[in-house]
Amino acid sequence: MAPKHNDRMDIDSDSDISIDFEHTTSKGKGKGRAKAGDKRKADKGKGKAKDTQAYTWEASFTRSWDTVQEDEAGSLQTSVEDLLARGRRRSCLIFIPRHDILLAPAAAIRRTIIRHLVLILDLSASMMDRDMRPTRFDLMLQYAREFVTEWFDQNPLGQIGVVGMRAGLGERIGVMSGNPQEVLKSIADRHKMEPTGEPSLQNAIEMARGSMNHLPTHSSREILLIFGSLTTCDPGNIHDTLDSCVKNKIRISLVAIAAEMKICRDLCEKTGGQFGVAMNEGHFKDLLFELVPPPAQRPTPRPLGAGAGATTNTNPAADLMMMGFPTRLPDASPPSLCVCHSEMKSQGFLCPRCLSKVCDVPTDCDICGLMIVSSPHLARSYHHLFPVKPYDAVQDEEDIPDGSKTCHACARPFPEKTANAKEGISPVGRYRCPDCGQDFCSECDVLVHDVVHCCPGCGK
Ligand SMILES: [Zn+2]
Ligand SMILES: [Zn+2]
Ligand SMILES: [Zn+2]
Ligand SMILES: [Zn+2]
Repeated sequence: MAPKHNDRMDIDSDSDISIDFEHTTSKGKGKGRAKAGDKRKADKGKGKAKDTQAYTWEASFTRSWDTVQEDEAGSLQTSVEDLLARGRRRSCLIFIPRHDILLAPAAAIRRTIIRHLVLILDLSASMMDRDMRPTRFDLMLQYAREFVTEWFDQNPLGQIGVVGMRAGLGERIGVMSGNPQEVLKSIADRHKMEPTGEPSLQNAIEMARGSMNHLPTHSSREILLIFGSLTTCDPGNIHDTLDSCVKNKIRISLVAIAAEMKICRDLCEKTGGQFGVAMNEGHFKDLLFELVPPPAQRPTPRPLGAGAGATTNTNPAADLMMMGFPTRLPDASPPSLCVCHSEMKSQGFLCPRCLSKVCDVPTDCDICGLMIVSSPHLARSYHHLFPVKPYDAVQDEEDIPDGSKTCHACARPFPEKTANAKEGISPVGRYRCPDCGQDFCSECDVLVHDVVHCCPGCGK
């Protein structure tokens, strides 16, 4: 039986679900276990405790309106602002990881924009546990789909493959593909992935490793494991697998749903990946989504003295790589066979070097091996290298320069001053770019950082 961390709440986790989850537990079964800070909430809930939430799975029904609470004036404005601000803080935490901010802004950060990821899903019997609602399995599938969508949005040049672990075997669920629709389709049918038996870390990792062995050095090789068991059933020594992953430069990250296992931590630490144990649903999602932005390449420190010139930094020299921009065939063109699936189709792309026809970009040409990308994809992967700096919440009315009564981006007037002075929320509804000093409303702030990736004030 997995240990339950339900009555603890992660401080870093800012997602909605985790917040009210704490709320629900303190109502339902938090007999004096709620922390001091929750006392007020717990007291409030006591009256209702008898007639509600006999079963944990019922709790989900109360959640959505538990978070939204009217303020003294009976307005929902404060709650809405709270949610927005929570989103802001989360996106700052996730999309601009802290270690990047700590790196001097002038220092070049290297990120791999051509990524190859194998998503390994635990499909063992322990995934049917209901400690995460509705079950670990359903929650994992739901988050995996959201993860894939977000991942392709942020990494348009990446490719994802999916491997499942069940009945002691690794099972290929989706082949490596750069098309989000194809990956989503492979994990769409839950009946094909019904959990059963024991997981095998070694078999699954070996299978993932095998599918990435041929990749060129300029692309990343990553494995993301979602692991809900406390056992692994391996045919050989898993440490040998670990060693070969280190040798092949495969980065393993793991999100555990049950509890920490030594081998899991070792897998992540030795390969340079991230390891996390999800405490609740919201934290699980946070841990997953932390892996969406491409990992920064750690500069390898050079021995002092040997060529430590002022201009050379610690990064190795950049390599050039060849890419081709394909010609898109119009939908009305005569049908011809594609080289990837051997299907008759009208639409497709022509490889600029060998003129063979492929179905999707980005991909590697099956005939000549050229990497084929579309230029919008390339441009979209650029923003990770130059993230928009987080805007500062303007705390004081006196801080406001004359003249700016409206948001610099959408030109709507800023709201009246509110008494809401929580961390990360501006009482005057203004968020200021540290570079250009322009003020933006909270909606535009979120949009700029999550979607546009470019400040409308300074164009950075
Ligand atoms: Zn094809
Ligand atoms: Zn070609
Ligand atoms: Zn605005
Ligand atoms: Zn700016």
